Amino acid sequence: MGKGRYFGDDRLRYRIENRKNRYTECIYCSKESHTREHVPSKVFLQKPFPDDLPTLPACYECNNAFSKKELLVSLLIQIMKKELLNNYEFPESTNGRIEKNEGLLMKVKNIIATGDASKLDSDIRSVLVKLARGHSVWDLSKGYYIDSDAVNHDRINVDYRFLHEMTQDEIDDFLAVYFVNRLPLPEIGSRLFDTRLLVYQDDTENINEVIVLWEEVQEGEYEYICYQFDNVIEVKIVINNFLFAKIHFKEM
Ligand SMILES: [Zn+2]
Repeated sequence: MGKGRYFGDDRLRYRIENRKNRYTECIYCSKESHTREHVPSKVFLQKPFPDDLPTLPACYECNNAFSKKELLVSLLIQIMKKELLNNYEFPESTNGRIEKNEGLLMKVKNIIATGDASKLDSDIRSVLVKLARGHSVWDLSKGYYIDSDAVNHDRINVDYRFLHEMTQDEIDDFLAVYFVNRLPLPEIGSRLFDTRLLVYQDDTENINEVIVLWEEVQEGEYEYICYQFDNVIEVKIVINNFLFAKIHFKEM
């Protein structure tokens, strides 16, 4: 089965699958969309980009507004990595982004120099929610525009930390796969159902475990995992092996 094909509820297709010459709706604001965007955005990846990067329908306005914030966050991560990790050099794609955005680079450097990275907190949160929503729509066919059958915007929780703020045990915990034996399975036909949901046989205990695997979009650059636990959709994202984020959407 092709990665990325959607075999779920046909009535949701206009939100979940980007198709030319078909009515599609922006997953962020529900307006008609004529553009698509990569999930995740390429700004968090390095060249050569994966050639099967998912795309979802998003309107031009949302796309554009998020792009600026995403560039800011990607530069913040790279600059912090360079300052905090020994011998870390910017990858080639980052150098290219810096050359084209020197003003933004100076802005981020100044914020870090004054020790007040919390100034970027709302941008970071907004980008993380946006990324999480994309993964949730892609994997679970849920979490698109906030309406009666989706999620309540007031009930989103974002928790993030950087690599140097975590112990190895905390990192290991964060990176664990999900065991979902007692939970309902995702919608049949949703992409997660077809790709990263596995039955793992534990011979010593003689039981089968249903597990959800992490999706490695690009090794060392971008990984995520998501699942619905009762009325909460949880998405965990690791960006550039440096920013570790957990996002919860509560369903109404
Ligand atoms: Zn939009």
